[in-house]
Amino acid sequence: MKVLIDMIKLREALVRDPSLELPEGLCYGRHNNGLKTIRELAIFRFTCRRCDDAPCISVCPAEALEKDDEGVIMRHTNLCVSCKSCVTICPFGTMMTDFFRHHRNKDLFYDLCDPAQAEKFVAACPPGTAMITDSTGHQGENIYVLNERVLIRDYIYSTEKE
Ligand code: SF4
Ligand code: SF4
Repeated sequence: MKVLIDMIKLREALVRDPSLELPEGLCYGRHNNGLKTIRELAIFRFTCRRCDDAPCISVCPAEALEKDDEGVIMRHTNLCVSCKSCVTICPFGTMMTDFFRHHRNKDLFYDLCDPAQAEKFVAACPPGTAMITDSTGHQGENIYVLNERVLIRDYIYSTEKE
């Protein structure tokens, strides 16, 4: 059982209502230096262009962003001061600004490794933006594997990042 999160539809939902409080799936494991949401991991992995001289890293006043050994940006949430300079300077509009809200409703965080919580997460998402699936990913439908529990639908920068 996996959860498919449709980032394309989530962005559309945020455009319609920027104040929307989206439920968050959590991911425990690699790169989790601080609370990390599935959406943030997915965006840095699939949507980010991985700029050679990444302006988001140089503009950050808190040295909270760095690239991992695969060139994927990661944010140290314990250092981030939520100034959103990285959001402003990114030429590709990669990030969603609600990542940087200081006070987020923890009742809307779900552990997607727990099947019961995964079901609740899907139910709490805006209609059509998340579902339970047995799919293993489908590049032609812009569906990619994030980890063993989560699939992401998004327009990615390069197919080699599948
Ligand atoms: S929002 Fe956080 S990660 Fe982005 S520039 Fe500001 S301190 Fe750095
Ligand atoms: S500036 Fe934007 S696209 Fe470039 S590395 Fe940073 S987040 Fe990714």
